Amino acid sequence: MQFEENKDLSALNTLGFSYKAERYVEINEDTALNEAVEYAQQKGWPVFVMGGGSNLVLTRNIPGLVIYLSKNTMQYDIRGPENCWLFKITVGAGVNWHQLVRDSVSRGLYGLENLSLIPGNTGAAPVQNIGAYGVELCDRFDSLTALHLPTNEWHEFDLASCEFGYRDSVFKHHPDEYAITSVRLLVGKDMPQETSYDSLSQLITRRYTQNEITPEIVSNTVCELRQSKLPDPSIIGNAGSFFHNPIVTRAHHEGLRQRFPNLVSYPQEDGTVKLAAGWLIDSLGLRGNRKGAVGVHDKQALVLVHHGGGTGHELLTYAEEIQQSVQDKFGVELIMEPKVL
Ligand SMILES: Cc1cc2nc3c(=O)[nH]c(=O)nc-3n(C[C@H](O)[C@H](O)[C@H](O)COP(=O)(O)OP(=O)(O)OC[C@H]3O[C@@H](n4cnc5c(N)ncnc54)[C@H](O)[C@@H]3O)c2cc1C
Repeated sequence: MQFEENKDLSALNTLGFSYKAERYVEINEDTALNEAVEYAQQKGWPVFVMGGGSNLVLTRNIPGLVIYLSKNTMQYDIRGPENCWLFKITVGAGVNWHQLVRDSVSRGLYGLENLSLIPGNTGAAPVQNIGAYGVELCDRFDSLTALHLPTNEWHEFDLASCEFGYRDSVFKHHPDEYAITSVRLLVGKDMPQETSYDSLSQLITRRYTQNEITPEIVSNTVCELRQSKLPDPSIIGNAGSFFHNPIVTRAHHEGLRQRFPNLVSYPQEDGTVKLAAGWLIDSLGLRGNRKGAVGVHDKQALVLVHHGGGTGHELLTYAEEIQQSVQDKFGVELIMEPKVL
């Protein structure tokens, strides 16, 4: 097993911050992962599992061992005679998420198309239960296999044991404890398509009749919408949405609505109300704002950007200032979405 020392991570995190991994190794086999973890334990090295680096804010060099899981296999199985149009795909952690979506779409299978163009690897997708355009990973999830790093033992997780929530899962509550090596998802020819999300539905119904819609059309439309709004990390450093959309009580929402009639909000089934974090930041006049090397994206206020030459600390300080301003004006706590290291 080859450990690279002082591995430069600048090109391996989408914010483009220049930090190093003390040691770095790419692993594509389960037995090799067990060996690496055992070796790290003997040496007393902390282990950190990294994917595509698209949901990370690095603020320092990473001590110990960084493991990149590179297994990139995809296997489609018909799930059973009673569901012969439902397929279970078993996907290696190292498969690029968008590549997986395009692969299933090219087979005419529904299920993942709304999640097109989300950066990162499949192994990371369950960690924050990725979601976009009305679909979350948990809606298509079957099960996964993960190595429990402290004991070096293999665990299987089904839907219930992942404890999925809004950008949340059991893996967020046990940070850095598991290495997810493969994920099993359900896709199918007969799956209901989800095109009710506002902007998606508007664009699709303007162009196609219901009978014309295919997974490919949904995927292409989602890509078009995302490209029109979100900055491309290969051009400007970012980690996608920087804050969760906050959830407030109905009474809090009513009070805010009286003061801010244009407030963007989404009532939830449990009586609470989800607010659009981007709207809150936008209404502080911060869209397009820049402070040194970091700032708020000029098209999407929920995305913080790194213009180059800055540090993770600079971005964090800036994010904390935004959190404080939102708290002062709206009495709402914004929670950061990416993992801060
Ligand atoms: C432009 C842009 C748009 C985005 N849009 C969306 C969106 O629409 N919806 C959405 O939900 N997210 C979005 N994101 C966030 C990000 O793409 C997802 O969170 C993605 O799943 C992160 O994958 P990654 O491989 O880059 O993980 P990383 O950033 O490398 O890691 C993220 C976390 O997962 C852990 N992790 C990574 N791989 C594994 C593994 N195999 N086993 C265990 N833990 C692991 C890491 O330790 C870390 O804690 C966006 C990001 C960007 C830059």
